Amino acid sequence: MPVTETPYPILSHFLCSVQSNTGMPANPVDPPLPPADDDKKPLPKGVVLGPDGKPCRTCTSVKSWMAMTKQQPKTSDASKAVPAATAAFSVPQLPEDCPPDVEQLGRSSWTLLHTMAASYPEQPTPTQQSEVKQFISLFSKLYPCWVCAGDFQEWIKSGNAPRVSNRDEFGRWMCEAHNAVNEKLGKSSFDCNLWQQRWRTGWKDGRCD
Ligand SMILES: Cc1cc2nc3c(=O)[nH]c(=O)nc-3n(C[C@H](O)[C@H](O)[C@H](O)COP(=O)(O)OP(=O)(O)OC[C@H]3O[C@@H](n4cnc5c(N)ncnc54)[C@H](O)[C@@H]3O)c2cc1C
Repeated sequence: MPVTETPYPILSHFLCSVQSNTGMPANPVDPPLPPADDDKKPLPKGVVLGPDGKPCRTCTSVKSWMAMTKQQPKTSDASKAVPAATAAFSVPQLPEDCPPDVEQLGRSSWTLLHTMAASYPEQPTPTQQSEVKQFISLFSKLYPCWVCAGDFQEWIKSGNAPRVSNRDEFGRWMCEAHNAVNEKLGKSSFDCNLWQQRWRTGWKDGRCD
């Protein structure tokens, strides 16, 4: 289930404990919360709470975040603001130097993970295999979106332990992990036969050369 639709935000008090170990707090910036007399009003759909009961930015999309704050993005640098003509026809955006929402965090994380697979040895030593397994295990516990982390751990436990005996195997495992999230979010699957072109060699048509 996308974090933007979780019906159990209160569970975050328990599940977000991992997030407190990441160095990235659940709510890096305290949002302007509703006034006290509004406290009983439900939060906008998609806003996920962190371990302290406050909205968790890294678990929430920009759209839901901005619906909660009910204000236009503020910036001291007008050049970074979304042009009005663009903003009118696009999803809400915040300036580039704001803490990440769930999507930006996800894109950056997949870039790191797939690129790690791309640079993984074709014939890894036992130590390298052990280290990459440790990394995935810790990553799945420390990922700063608690809902995403919990589901990723469950996916790994349910017969999807990392396959790390060589580069292509690890890259395909990562592709399958990403596809499991794509499926959960209702997105189309990526063809894992193409993972090396996407993340290592560039496409055969030469557009990345
Ligand atoms: C471990 C993990 C768990 C996550 N769980 C959730 C969650 O529970 N809920 C939630 O809302 N978000 C979750 N996310 C974020 C989510 O996966 C996306 O990153 C985010 O929604 C932004 O999506 P996107 O469409 O921009 O592209 P992304 O899904 O971020 O993909 C980036 C690029 O990777 C390529 N790509 C796509 N699929 C594959 C694949 N299978 N193999 C190789 N390359 C591929 C494509 O070129 C794509 O443009 C998670 C992220 C991670 C790292």
